[in-house]
Amino acid sequence: MADPGPAGDADLRWLGLACDLARRCPPSATAFSVGAVVVGPDGRELARGFSRQDDPVAHAEEAALAGLAAVPAGSTIYSSLEPCGRRASRPRPCARLILDAGIGRVVFAWREPSLFVEGAGAELLRAAGVDVVEIPELAGPARAPNRHLLDG
Ligand SMILES: [Zn+2]
Repeated sequence: MADPGPAGDADLRWLGLACDLARRCPPSATAFSVGAVVVGPDGRELARGFSRQDDPVAHAEEAALAGLAAVPAGSTIYSSLEPCGRRASRPRPCARLILDAGIGRVVFAWREPSLFVEGAGAELLRAAGVDVVEIPELAGPARAPNRHLLDG
């Protein structure tokens, strides 16, 4: 399997949109604000979501995937935050939801700080053969709507 290549312009654009969506999350003192976009192999948006969009405990990736009946092969999910590998509020963490949806490529900006539960979503996804690309250049905008959680 080829190593994931460097992030291209399209990756930066979609991940930037995910970071914009994160700013629309209803505020929370106990959970991250995250945005996610699913993009098909043809480069078109299939779904988008953000934390607590329709459900007070929904994660962004979960909200985006909930709107899709099926995910075409070759799709990518962009998330402002590393998909969770473990979570308290649901039996399946987002990394598992992504695997179960058959998504083979994940692009994220900000590695989950071990604030609420341990992260390790990226490692879980990589171990399952998913291409995982981290774009730390966008970690700033991904972190911005979560500043109140980090600085106290
Ligand atoms: Zn999650």
